[in-house]
Amino acid sequence: MEKRFYQKEFETMELDKMRALQSERLVRQVKHVWDNVPYYRGLMEEKGLTPDDIKGIDDLHKLPFLSKADLRDQYPYGLLATDLKNCVRIHSTSGTTGRRVVAFYTQGDVDLWEECCARAIVAAGGTEDDVCQVSYGYGLFTGGAGLHGGAHKLGAMTLPMSSGNTERQLQFMNDLQATILCCTPSYAAYLGESLKERGMDGDKNTLKAGIFGAEPWTEEMRRDIEKSLGIKAYDIYGLTELSGPGVSFECEEQAGMHINEDHFIAEIIDPETGEVLPEGEVGELVFTSLTKEAFPLLRYRTRDLTCLTREKCACGRTLIRMRKPMGRSDDMLIIRGVNVFPSQIETVLLNEGYSPNYRIEVDRENNTDTLDVYVEMNPDQFSDVVKDINMDAADLAAAIKNMLGIRPKVHLVAPKSITRSEGKAVRVIDRRKLHD
Ligand code: ADP
Ligand code: ZN
Repeated sequence: MEKRFYQKEFETMELDKMRALQSERLVRQVKHVWDNVPYYRGLMEEKGLTPDDIKGIDDLHKLPFLSKADLRDQYPYGLLATDLKNCVRIHSTSGTTGRRVVAFYTQGDVDLWEECCARAIVAAGGTEDDVCQVSYGYGLFTGGAGLHGGAHKLGAMTLPMSSGNTERQLQFMNDLQATILCCTPSYAAYLGESLKERGMDGDKNTLKAGIFGAEPWTEEMRRDIEKSLGIKAYDIYGLTELSGPGVSFECEEQAGMHINEDHFIAEIIDPETGEVLPEGEVGELVFTSLTKEAFPLLRYRTRDLTCLTREKCACGRTLIRMRKPMGRSDDMLIIRGVNVFPSQIETVLLNEGYSPNYRIEVDRENNTDTLDVYVEMNPDQFSDVVKDINMDAADLAAAIKNMLGIRPKVHLVAPKSITRSEGKAVRVIDRRKLHD
């Protein structure tokens, strides 16, 4: 089958050429920021830097980092790099981990972002003949607008559903024969569950692909969703501060997400020391935006933990790939001294045959951390006697202990008793903060 790309020239550009392009764009961007963002200019001056010190990407490491704290501090206009009258839109973060950040877009910024999303849709097998059901939230959140714009650029038929109203989602999916579903993985799982209840799961619907992101999800969750929806499920990554979804995207190899390097330079740093780590090492992902006009962030620390690889990809794209982020550094729970990511617990649950509906509660009793995991029983377990259910709970607790090294208290709860997510799932309640 002939490989399809949305912007082949950039997606398959040779490394030398890409580095030259990045260098040229970086030099221009640093000057743009220096001239227009006094705050960042101040950070550069503190380091004794002027734009003349940045001659190409080999000088990138000299530039100061920006963090979420800088963005909050400079809210709302402090990092705006153009006259407000050149801007056509704002978006804002979901505020998953604190006060929202507002990002500005010129029409040029919107166009480039939508092209990145169109690349992702094409990489997922999309063409102008597809019907894209966009079930990410529309509004301040970037998910809806990004994939909507991408589908338009491609010339696909767009169903601007936004999230929620599951009954209507399923009706339109069926009546209008949606072929590509775009939403968060947790909402995809919920839609899959709802399709199953109506006998429309697996191959009994018209969907062929899904583009899911905006939150961490495991390979186990991917398999679960692929089965229930009868599709191939692709990951997509992004953040409001850089544009939104489409900073990186998966191809048919499903082996990491290709970063749109003509727009974003990625680095991996040691989150403690800030030192740049070599390819393949896990650390914090840092991005420099090369083409944004209104809100161009240089060396922005995402707090997302992952690693990069330049290994050749069979899809033909030469864009560097990032591994599925396992979560952000601030999602990591430290329980009795052990580092725990919710995604590790998700892996065990799905491997043990449970649904991806769970809640993790952490608290502290008598100076010791407690870990409680609430998981829904499968319908057949639900009819079991209490003794069997207790045994299942003990088995699951042992499997989680095997993975994490600490034993949780497992609570098997009734099917459907854990609230389903229509956007980004909230899976962790950490009550220890209340005591501090
Ligand atoms: P917030 O930071 O408030 O959630 P955003 O909506 O901009 O605001 O979310 C961006 C963040 O979402 C990323 O920094 C990352 O932590 C997470 N994210 C986005 N896509 C993915 C993905 N495919 N896998 C894992 N995490 C993701
Ligand atoms: Zn690829």
